[in-house]
Amino acid sequence: MPERDGPGEKQNFSSSHPKRKSRWGRKSTYKCHCCGRELPFCWNCPCGFQICDECLKENMWGISNGPTWVCPDCGRVRMF
Ligand SMILES: [Zn+2]
Ligand SMILES: [Zn+2]
Repeated sequence: MPERDGPGEKQNFSSSHPKRKSRWGRKSTYKCHCCGRELPFCWNCPCGFQICDECLKENMWGISNGPTWVCPDCGRVRMF
């Protein structure tokens, strides 16, 4: 019957919210080395190779192997 919360239990809720500044301010686009399109996202490799999702799927048979794909440029194995 008593509906009281414990003492002060809910007060943590308003604890300081650090101001979050967006890290996505600068526009970074990728350019697929396969189709040449500029996209908001591409799979990429440290060597600089970038490939879009579509091209990756098209080339899946060649460069992908389960949860990984292989950069055709440098041969590095990349995880999805
Ligand atoms: Zn592409
Ligand atoms: Zn590479």
